[in-house]
Amino acid sequence: MRKPNILLIYTGGTIGMVKDADTGVLKAFDFDSLLVRIPEIRLLECVIETVSFEEPIDSSNMNPIYWEAMAKIIEANYEKFDGFVVLHGSDTMSYSASVLSFMLENLEKPVVFTGSQLPIGDLRTDAKENLITSIQLASLHNDRIPVIREVCLYFEYKLYRGNRTTKINAEHFEAFDSPNYPTLAESGVHLKINDELLRKEKYKEKLIVRTQLDTNIGVLKLFPGISEPLVQAILNTKGLRGLIIETYGSGNATTEKWFIDLLEKAINRGLHVINVTQCSGGGVIMGKYDTSSQLEHIGIISGKDITTEAAVAKLMYLLGYNISSEEFQFYFEKSLRGEMT
Ligand code: ASP
Repeated sequence: MRKPNILLIYTGGTIGMVKDADTGVLKAFDFDSLLVRIPEIRLLECVIETVSFEEPIDSSNMNPIYWEAMAKIIEANYEKFDGFVVLHGSDTMSYSASVLSFMLENLEKPVVFTGSQLPIGDLRTDAKENLITSIQLASLHNDRIPVIREVCLYFEYKLYRGNRTTKINAEHFEAFDSPNYPTLAESGVHLKINDELLRKEKYKEKLIVRTQLDTNIGVLKLFPGISEPLVQAILNTKGLRGLIIETYGSGNATTEKWFIDLLEKAINRGLHVINVTQCSGGGVIMGKYDTSSQLEHIGIISGKDITTEAAVAKLMYLLGYNISSEEFQFYFEKSLRGEMT
């Protein structure tokens, strides 16, 4: 039987970094050396090809140009490969996995993001297990049909839906969590796949890659004592088209008149305002408390249990479409790629 073809896309991140001998600072190095450091890869039951960003980046420099580049690589190689593993820095991996989940419409193959907390050359590195298991997961198939047919993130023995993840720790190997959706698979002595949690859609149409994003958005995290000039300054930002407000608990905010009035005016001007909770688990239920009823009243969109990372991605993505405010609210509040419950 034909072995699965897997494309490794190296974008940068700690996984492929080395310490500068003089300064001790971690910098990206070339991908070929990365493979030399993991000879075990040759033992895997798949055929691996690699492609690398010309200049690998620390993912803190991630932006829509790089997202488009990743999506285009997948599009150009979609027919030839059975699965894709994207090596990426962990800092913004959840954002990238979320964006790619929206960009890749009708996706029926695995796209697994992974990286590591320690460089591949480090004696105690977590890179090898992350990389090898990601490749194995991307290679799984039943009767030639890939088991995983969505954008995922694999880190420290767990496979998550990419657009449900958030980076929770800057030093533990267990750096990610998916607070509102269970893990899709776990790696122990056996690879345990939670089949009932995977996306199973079969699309009539082929893969469509939509890379148009609008970055005229903002994220405002509420805190007790937030001042009117600050909120005003954000709402007056030139060109602003969408704003995510990170509210308290189940979507609550101050009921002070200045705050509600400023938001109402901005919404009436055409700004799309999304309510996302600043809690790491659970979601927004507008109208549950008095402190969220007014937000619902003035036309704020519910982010439900979406992460801020996925909300950023979805907002940029939907703003790339020319749709009415009603349609915008309808699509934002609906799960498009399993990003909300
Ligand atoms: N700063 C690094 C990056 O995100 C951290 C990592 O790779 O984990 O590129």
